[in-house]
Amino acid sequence: MKFMSDFDLDLFVLGAGSGGVRAARIAAGHGAKVAIAEEFRTGGTCVIRGCVPKKIMVLASRFHDAFDDAAGYGWTLSTKPQFSWPALIAAKDKEIGRLSALYRQNLERSGVTQYQSRAVLEDAHTVKLLADGKTLRAKNILIATGGHPVIPHIPGAELAISSNEAFDLKELPKRILIVGGGYIALEFACLFHRLGSEVTLIHRGEKILRGFDEDLRDELMLAMAGEGITLKMNNTVAKIEEAPKGCRKVHYISGDDDEFDVVFFATGRAPNTSGIGLDNAGVTLKENGAVKVDDKSCTNVGHIFAVGDVTDRVNLTPVAIREGHALADTLFGNNAWTPDHSLVATAVFSTPELGAIGMTEQDAREKLIPVDIYRAKFRSLKHTMTRRQERTFMKLVVESKTDKVLGVHIMGEDAGEIIQLAAVAIGMGATKKDFDRTVAVHPTAAEELVTMR
Ligand code: NDP
Repeated sequence: MKFMSDFDLDLFVLGAGSGGVRAARIAAGHGAKVAIAEEFRTGGTCVIRGCVPKKIMVLASRFHDAFDDAAGYGWTLSTKPQFSWPALIAAKDKEIGRLSALYRQNLERSGVTQYQSRAVLEDAHTVKLLADGKTLRAKNILIATGGHPVIPHIPGAELAISSNEAFDLKELPKRILIVGGGYIALEFACLFHRLGSEVTLIHRGEKILRGFDEDLRDELMLAMAGEGITLKMNNTVAKIEEAPKGCRKVHYISGDDDEFDVVFFATGRAPNTSGIGLDNAGVTLKENGAVKVDDKSCTNVGHIFAVGDVTDRVNLTPVAIREGHALADTLFGNNAWTPDHSLVATAVFSTPELGAIGMTEQDAREKLIPVDIYRAKFRSLKHTMTRRQERTFMKLVVESKTDKVLGVHIMGEDAGEIIQLAAVAIGMGATKKDFDRTVAVHPTAAEELVTMR
């Protein structure tokens, strides 16, 4: 099935984001003739307007607390620290430019032909590049076109921004309304707050982060409210109007209204499946518009594949990378493997940060699995010396019958770092006894995971 000469290419990839780039490079490394098309910038959402710039902004925002906390350790700052939004954006753009160039270089070194163009399928093997009208015939095709932010259809929606624009605002908003209770809403609410904006977060549900452990949801809401972020639950935006001085007047469904400089919708993302000719190739979509694939990332058309957010499985960069890698190894490397979508650890880069893997207490109860719950809530050593009220929270969900740790849920500094290693233990099927006989690293916050009684 591979390396056929009656085609121009062994593999054509639509979209140079995390999944597409990994698949292209690995396939080329196996000797396949590969081309990739990207209409925007190489690197995709994660590198250009997602994980990486977001984390840079989160890190920038955390200096706010660091300057305050330093006083508890004997430091005196001789001048009040000043923050410059344009300086941060310029530094961030420079780094993103460097990374995008690195991605292009790596593709080139791997021998992948790159096209800066939108690519559209003309039939199940033919791809047209819209930039110059060129057509190519490929034995295999990979759809890795990612997703885009979705803003609800309400009057005045065009006056709001999404995460795409949040990375490039000309100035730091004085008052910002963030709509949604998911990853993006929480991360941006916390970072804008610490950079100096007055932040209101509005969410249609009773609590943020549906699907996360109830305790983590409660603890993060408590922490955010405690820091001075206004949380409006069970409410959302009905209408937006222009107001004087470039402001936005927001009418809530509850009937009241308020004014903000920026209204930011973080209300989910949708797969990029329109306008790329999937119907010409006969590719079947799911009801929500995502490409329907099997566990090998294969669509209903045997030689057309899809990886990453466009398939709406687990929409995380490292998952897309594994899907792309597995596909390239399977097609061209004589090494068939299937990406595992179970037990995927995740982090929310709010401040305080969250890290989670495995079952929540509620999952276990719904599945009627008897569990023992271990919780620890404490002030970290660092904050015994500062005036900050921040608490660290950790929770283990342990199956009563087998003693197996089914879930780990953490809120606190470095939760994302800690959960990565907890994920190794959980993936290996660690029991609570395994945690208990692990000698603590002292003094750390993570040691609580192995000392909970
Ligand atoms: P999420 O799906 O995580 O959250 C969307 C939020 O918007 C939910 O709270 C949802 O409420 C709410 N919502 C959806 N539709 C509406 C509506 N019409 N009106 C009001 N509220 C609405 O999406 P995000 O945009 O935050 O993030 C997209 C994806 O990006 C995530 O799923 C994640 O996979 C990925 N991501 C990962 C990050 C990380 O790993 N740290 C960081 C950022 C993004 P409800 O719960 O009621 O449905």
